[in-house]
Amino acid sequence: MAADKKPEWSDPTKPDVCSSVVRKGEVLAAQESSLQKNTRFKKRISAEPSVEELFDGVLKGNRGMLARAITLAESNAEHHFLNAQELLQRLLPYSGNSIRIGITGVPGAGKSTFIEEFGMYLCSMGLNVAVLAIDPSSSISGGSILGDKTRMDQLSRNPRAFIRPSPSAGKLGGVHRKTRESLLLCEAAGFNVILIETVGVGQSEVIIRDMVDFFMLLVLTGAGDELQGMKKGILELADAIIVHKADGDNRQKAEMARKDYNRILHFLQPATKGWVSKAYTCSSLTREGIDKIWEVVQSFEKTGKSSGVLFERRNVQSREWLHAMIADQLQYHFYHHPEIINELPKIENEVIAGGKTVSSAVENLFKLFFHKKE
Ligand code: GDP
Repeated sequence: MAADKKPEWSDPTKPDVCSSVVRKGEVLAAQESSLQKNTRFKKRISAEPSVEELFDGVLKGNRGMLARAITLAESNAEHHFLNAQELLQRLLPYSGNSIRIGITGVPGAGKSTFIEEFGMYLCSMGLNVAVLAIDPSSSISGGSILGDKTRMDQLSRNPRAFIRPSPSAGKLGGVHRKTRESLLLCEAAGFNVILIETVGVGQSEVIIRDMVDFFMLLVLTGAGDELQGMKKGILELADAIIVHKADGDNRQKAEMARKDYNRILHFLQPATKGWVSKAYTCSSLTREGIDKIWEVVQSFEKTGKSSGVLFERRNVQSREWLHAMIADQLQYHFYHHPEIINELPKIENEVIAGGKTVSSAVENLFKLFFHKKE
């Protein structure tokens, strides 16, 4: 063992003044194994696929890789963000080749049962179907609308289908951004039909309308009450209204509701230029009407493509997405700015105590924000 040394801060001219010594460490046999490299940890790091591996995997339609790519895009970790964006950028030219269908309806309208049957029907026609979800409540409750659903079990086991529960919101953009990016990834993986489900409880219909080509609203019978309660705005977003659960005793009522909805639709602004939105009946229990709905979607796609309306819609959506992302990023940077983090609680209290107006509080905060940025 090397001789003990005086510490570097001791005075070399007066070694006796300093009584401390630095001893060279010695590894005891019993400690040796715990000092060995932790290979388990290393293994886990290498298990995270590279952008290159994800790119290849997604393009080959490898479901496992697609799931991991979506997880990467959904991640709230900043170091994942750059990799995810590089991946998306590279996959962008391979996306866009699907028909994007939004499906909404109140809880209990039968959305997941319908998606299961509709999805199975599409798979039986040789199409590849991806199902995504937007859960407007997930940013509050952390919940997920598809996550706990076991009813789509048939579809989830179908090799032509891919089901992804809704992401939860996070600091690098809300549920909104994540669903759009998942959509692009699914398209690059070769899915021809993307179904996006949301619970119809307000804002989410507008969000979903902004990212799909075709938007359908699932409704139930008892239309008299429902029509009065239903916001006209939601009906105006729909390219088709599906009166669902049109089976058994309910069949006749569903037919009446269909006529009622058609009468109303006649007076509303069409959701898509050049397309007449209509109501249809369908049952996911008997599967009656499912094929008709697919016919309607196909006819919509054909008309929309030949008139250029669909192309135009996607352009508008891309522009809106850009603006939504800018707003997301501004908000993120503002609330993560050190000066803002410091000052916001104080300014909040001043506003609450009535010592400051909201406008002057905002002005103060923006001064702090821009000052630091310059
Ligand atoms: P969601 O909340 O909109 O996703 O609705 P679910 O798919 O969970 O369905 C709600 C209930 O309606 C379930 O008990 C289903 O079995 C039932 N249901 C769904 N589709 C139909 C249908 O076409 N006919 C009938 N009679 N019941 C249905």
